[in-house]
Amino acid sequence: MLPEKTLSWGLSRNCMRELSAYGARRKQEIGAENVYDFALGNPCVLPPEIVNQSIIDIIREEGNTVHAYTPAAGLLSLRRKIADDLNDRFHLDITADLLYIATGAAGALAASLRGTLLPGHEVICLAPFFTEYRVFVEAAGGEVNVVLPAEDFSLNLDGIKAALNDRTKALIINSPNNPSGAVVSAEELTHLGDLLRAHEERTGNTIYLISDEPYREIVYDGIDYACPLNYYDDSVMCYSFSKALSIPGERIGYFAVNPRMEDAANVYASIVGAARGLGYVNPPALFQRVIERSIGCYSDISEYKTNRDILCKGLKELGYEFAKPQGAFYLFVKALEPDALAFSDRARSYELLLPASNDFGCSGYVRISYCVPRETIENAMPAFKALMDSYAVKP
Ligand code: PLP
Repeated sequence: MLPEKTLSWGLSRNCMRELSAYGARRKQEIGAENVYDFALGNPCVLPPEIVNQSIIDIIREEGNTVHAYTPAAGLLSLRRKIADDLNDRFHLDITADLLYIATGAAGALAASLRGTLLPGHEVICLAPFFTEYRVFVEAAGGEVNVVLPAEDFSLNLDGIKAALNDRTKALIINSPNNPSGAVVSAEELTHLGDLLRAHEERTGNTIYLISDEPYREIVYDGIDYACPLNYYDDSVMCYSFSKALSIPGERIGYFAVNPRMEDAANVYASIVGAARGLGYVNPPALFQRVIERSIGCYSDISEYKTNRDILCKGLKELGYEFAKPQGAFYLFVKALEPDALAFSDRARSYELLLPASNDFGCSGYVRISYCVPRETIENAMPAFKALMDSYAVKP
């Protein structure tokens, strides 16, 4: 007898990974240039030079000692440097003793949820949302309460108000959003903070705002990133260096508990305890040092903006409908039939790999990851046209 939950997560389909595996096989069959693989969010822009240079320098300077264990929470010097950078940029008061280096945002989220939820608690997830939230919440003993999006993917404050109840313990916010590319404004965060505080006062229950922000440096058109921790004290930041530094395979990020939270030290201790219980101690030692030398450096985000603009222009001219993304590197496009899975299957017959929105908690869309080489977008346009035309022809 195996645990039902873990067995089902292990056996369940992950639409994106399946499509990507299919794409790898298909590229062997017909040539990589003939498959338009928009399935995964793997950054296509190189990391800044300082990342590779630091790896070489650190090995030369420190030799094999670099591979030794570090403190479970990560090097203190790195945690201080990250805290200083956050405080400078976002006017926060993050302290190193409330910040823990984690294995990507995934590790940070899993620990944050496990350290704050009791069995039966609910977590509000704002659709469309990163597919793994459901697994992280359920693994922590919680239940997902999905709030469907507003038409333009702005924050659905009425939906959130209606979803709040006595079992609500947390709300996950993800700005810029994967998969819609929406960036939550300061005004929306002010309203959200008011709503959560009012609910806390009414019920006497603490609600944690878990801010999942791996894309916060990837914003376009001069939009200012508003940091959720400035709008609500009972908040935890989960960050990953995967996207803005283009190092997703190195598995490094952090969580930081907002020091403005009343019980911050205990909440931090509980999340650290959860990380310990999950075996998430001592993140990759070499990359802790690399990050320490790379704070403030990012990959060339302008590449993604150009990709976004080419894609949006091309698809708009063909008649596709979408809200123009303000950040991250995803475009969430309306499927041309009500069943997004059927649309994704039809797109695949034109060699377009577009995961259906069902796994993101809402129906009727597909996601296009435009963190791909420019020519993939340009060469895919005839396939997007053929796909659109196929819906004009009566079956
Ligand atoms: N949150 C969101 C919204 C993501 O898109 C991802 C990864 O794509 C993660 C969390 C997990 O980040 P990481 O792979 O760095 O753990």
